[in-house]
Amino acid sequence: MTTLPSTEEVWQALARIPDPEIPVINVVEMGIVRDVRLEGPKAIISMTPTFSGCPALHLIRAQLEETARSLGFAEVEVKTVLSPPWSTDWITPEAKERLRQYGIAPPRPTRERGALIELEAAPTRCPRCGSFNTSVKNTFGPTLCKAIHVCNDCKEPFESFKTV
Ligand SMILES: [Zn+2]
Repeated sequence: MTTLPSTEEVWQALARIPDPEIPVINVVEMGIVRDVRLEGPKAIISMTPTFSGCPALHLIRAQLEETARSLGFAEVEVKTVLSPPWSTDWITPEAKERLRQYGIAPPRPTRERGALIELEAAPTRCPRCGSFNTSVKNTFGPTLCKAIHVCNDCKEPFESFKTV
């Protein structure tokens, strides 16, 4: 008789799955995995899709299922939870810092001082030199999750992670 891993061990295993779009961040840090519930030989994983336009969701779903199966669960159910909708606020602070080091301006908090900030109007900080003197070049980056900016100080283009 084999012993199945604990809920904590399942979380740890899922945290080894990189986000398909941004490999420096895993799917747990992204806030995609909402819940892990174990019922005997069955693992039930709840996930919330990030940007509806992101094409990688079926891949993440397959990887969650495959990971749970590799841990010994005979039955794996991956549930999609749409409410509350995913927010970039769910990305952990450590992951946002790694995003910046990777050269992508991280999303900002959606709420500052209790009020919704003007996301489109507020300047995005350059991840290289930290300047706020930046302009949006193209709101449709390589994927729908990202926008392309250019820094007016270091003259380098950079991507930002859209805040939702
Ligand atoms: Zn710069």
